[in-house]
Amino acid sequence: MIKYKKMEETYRTKAIILGRKPFRECDAIATVYTFEKGKLDLVVKGAKKIKSKLAGHIEPMNLSEIMVVRGRGYDYIGSAVNKNCYINIKSNLNLVSCAGKAVNIFNKLVKHEEKDEDLFFILENFLEILNNENIGNNELFYNFFILKLLDLLGNRPELYNCVVCCSKISENNNKFDFLKGGVVCGKCLKNKNSAISDDCIKILRFAIKNDFCELKKLKINDILASEANFIISSFLAFYS
Ligand SMILES: [Zn+2]
Repeated sequence: MIKYKKMEETYRTKAIILGRKPFRECDAIATVYTFEKGKLDLVVKGAKKIKSKLAGHIEPMNLSEIMVVRGRGYDYIGSAVNKNCYINIKSNLNLVSCAGKAVNIFNKLVKHEEKDEDLFFILENFLEILNNENIGNNELFYNFFILKLLDLLGNRPELYNCVVCCSKISENNNKFDFLKGGVVCGKCLKNKNSAISDDCIKILRFAIKNDFCELKKLKINDILASEANFIISSFLAFYS
């Protein structure tokens, strides 16, 4: 008779904790976005015990290095080490609400096991900059995150050619059609479309092309920021 010892399969990965909910009597399920395998639901054993060391490393919004153990029913987190708790975000109500919204929408829009290193990096970079830098307009910075997230998920707004006649967008008298997901030129516009200024089109193009380090340097007046916030949040509403 052949005897063999079953080896538990494990792997290590960087993970951003997206959320956590109770599971069974004293465990929890953590939803995490991992660098290696995308979005996963993992059991945190004994998470409800007061002295659980593991649970402290698996707080929502943390960046942790985790070891995943493959189980028969569920995979679980064998160990975890915090790499960044984003302490400045968590000690500021405005920042925590901004980062919380970003993490929740990421969790909502990104499907399980959709592995994409760029998705990992935009969430990590966004949290990193929000934690370390003084961002003038948190709401606009959050909307830039949304725009980049939608772009990575295949929903880039059309900002260069009219979504009706396909001609190149020139300056003046353009509108935005949320149903069609892009800019409509002066010849094709209808009343129900929202006006979009030339500067706002430029800002959106710039936000898609550049990373958060460049975006944080932008000086944008309040009127233009409100316009960009409106266009991006309405665009999100149509696509989620
Ligand atoms: Zn047109």
